[in-house]
Amino acid sequence: MKVAKNTVVSIAYTLKDEDGNVLDTADAAEPLAYLHGFGNLIAGMEKALDDRDAGETFEVVIPPEEAYGAFDDDLVWEIDKDQFSEDLGDIEVGSQFVLETEDDQVLVTVAEIKEDFVIVDGNHELADETLYFNITVLDVREATAEELEHGHAHGPGSAHDHDHG
Ligand SMILES: [Zn+2]
Repeated sequence: MKVAKNTVVSIAYTLKDEDGNVLDTADAAEPLAYLHGFGNLIAGMEKALDDRDAGETFEVVIPPEEAYGAFDDDLVWEIDKDQFSEDLGDIEVGSQFVLETEDDQVLVTVAEIKEDFVIVDGNHELADETLYFNITVLDVREATAEELEHGHAHGPGSAHDHDHG
């Protein structure tokens, strides 16, 4: 069976940045399983996987616009230290927390700590990065009706191996 919309695909992969540093991997023993065609993976990855057969191994280079996007200055905020309800002793560069903005909740990372304010960054850590993938398609199967209803894969390897009660 080929990878197509409404199939559940299991892949092993290695993700590197442009300097060849390994950023993430999933091996055949613990593959990633996802429902294809529902935007569960970054756009460039789904596009590269479309119409592949189980057993294929290939490399793909994905530009930021088909991955985690360009760096967005609007997602960088300065927050006065006195606006923090928590003890600032717990906050250091690299700390992450959910920032409540006017109409959204954004996971941000503390980028800098100044005397009176803290600079936080809500961009994805891979924003602006070109991604280098080596991907092996391990298995392709029809999605179940329940998976289609939920919009994600179930079972081993899926991020949504949840209890449906
Ligand atoms: Zn589900």
